[in-house]
Amino acid sequence: MKTNKSKQLFERAQQIMPGGVNSPVRAFAGVGGTPFVVARGEGAYLIDVDGNRYVDYINSWGPLVLGHAHPAVVTALTEQLEYGTSYGASCELEYELAEIIISCMPSIEKIRFVNSGTEACMSALRLARGYTGRNKIVKFSGCYHGHSDQLLTKAGSGIATLGLSGSAGVSNDVTRNTITLPFNDTHAVQCVFAEVPEQIAAIILEPVMGNSGLILPNEDFLASLRRTCDASGSLLIFDEVMTGFRVDPGGAQALYNVKPDLTTIGKVIGGGLPVGAYGGKACIMSQIAPEGPVYQAGTLSGNPLAMRAGLATLHEWLHGDTFETTAGIATTLVQALREASLSHNVPIVAQSLGTMFGLFFTDKQTIDNNADAQACDTERFKRFFHACLERGVYFAPSPFEAGFVSCVHAGEPLDHTIKVVNEVFAII
Ligand code: PLP
Repeated sequence: MKTNKSKQLFERAQQIMPGGVNSPVRAFAGVGGTPFVVARGEGAYLIDVDGNRYVDYINSWGPLVLGHAHPAVVTALTEQLEYGTSYGASCELEYELAEIIISCMPSIEKIRFVNSGTEACMSALRLARGYTGRNKIVKFSGCYHGHSDQLLTKAGSGIATLGLSGSAGVSNDVTRNTITLPFNDTHAVQCVFAEVPEQIAAIILEPVMGNSGLILPNEDFLASLRRTCDASGSLLIFDEVMTGFRVDPGGAQALYNVKPDLTTIGKVIGGGLPVGAYGGKACIMSQIAPEGPVYQAGTLSGNPLAMRAGLATLHEWLHGDTFETTAGIATTLVQALREASLSHNVPIVAQSLGTMFGLFFTDKQTIDNNADAQACDTERFKRFFHACLERGVYFAPSPFEAGFVSCVHAGEPLDHTIKVVNEVFAII
């Protein structure tokens, strides 16, 4: 495998960008080695500047449910370019996308588009504080909700991969009101609510964790959070930036039948363009300016290109059995990982939920929280990652990330992956 051009370009990048990247996990800090530099995406594959092809199980960290450069998205964007790239005024595309999202996630009665998942979560918390008049926020260790100051404590993959607990530059004054608890620990939640019941504005969580690897909520965990919030007047916020449209067309809230007060989404709804959104009960959303006193705005919010890409993606994704077939690809992949693990006596926990999957090298039976994930064999993960990459299969370059399949992974890409996984388990 040739890597000269990637190496040269990455050296150049390191002169002009911190770590040579615009988002930390891209630098391969969690697995070592030099990251490849992408030339183009094509269906289930990424092709690097040296001409190597990789089956891509990251899919831009979730958004690309249809794979790279899907014809429906390319056509929609090409058409939209003719009509202009940004209006700074409302357009009907925003209403169309909002209505589709609302029809899939009935807990969302009103929605506001923003430009990233970070913005969505930051704004949802401002709204929760404005609505309840309370200051404290409960989050869970290993859940990532973007990089706003108040949420950067024990915040999952990007930070865990670098061995950090939080971020320099975030003052204690800001995180003083953030209470971080272990995921799946109902008792810990009840204790905190018993101590300061009238100070907690909201619980925010990834209802299915994807930023410490894939970790599922235990039975009744989400429902118990709903009951706790109802009893105390706090809001329940599901961060479905990653899980929205991925674990189920209606998100984790449909799958587990628990209705949050507010939901944050992003990724899939922008079809690969920068987007985020938050929404929920109309009485809460009406607190946002210009209807209410909670201020939030954005120059490019509801951007027509992003709306077109999101609409084209969701039309395909929600059509026929595309979701179910794609979820089947994730099931087959996990089955192959489990079979390879048994054949080569390499203990793992592997599972999928909808179109997301996760893999931990561990002899434990289940992974319930971030502490369990951190205790897994990260050295074996690094060997697995590099051996797969050399054979043209690109899993996330961190042991603390979920994987994503797209609807074009069936056939050759999946078959190649299964062959590679079998080879690789024999040597790690
Ligand atoms: N919330 C979750 C669950 C995420 O996975 C992410 C990003 O991966 C975010 C929020 C932040 O989104 P963005 O990177 O678009 O700011």
